[in-house]
Amino acid sequence: MKESRALENIISIKSEIQYGSNDIKQMKRIKCDSLNIAIKALEEIQQYRAIGTVEECREARERQIPKKIILNSEDDMEYEDYICPNCKDILQQRRKGATRITIYKFKFCHNCGQSLDWSE
Ligand SMILES: [Zn+2]
Repeated sequence: MKESRALENIISIKSEIQYGSNDIKQMKRIKCDSLNIAIKALEEIQQYRAIGTVEECREARERQIPKKIILNSEDDMEYEDYICPNCKDILQQRRKGATRITIYKFKFCHNCGQSLDWSE
């Protein structure tokens, strides 16, 4: 059962307790208080899930810290590749020695959003 379904059920059970006639008043209040706490906790969990897990938030924060790009320029290659340090996607490619061609230094990786440091 998904939490959203459980939440609907709990709300329904709570309303049965509230408006049914079997419980004495004191028991009704105790049960309703407990259910209110359960409902609030489930609603909070749903809100946190919408924001993302702690791990996802941590990863997003770490991507905001600039990381040095990787320059892949091996002797047998015709081109040099500028690579994202996080996802390893190729950001730019330039024919070796073509220094007149400007490398556009993106602030962020177009693929994963990593903040990029282009300093030598
Ligand atoms: Zn990337």
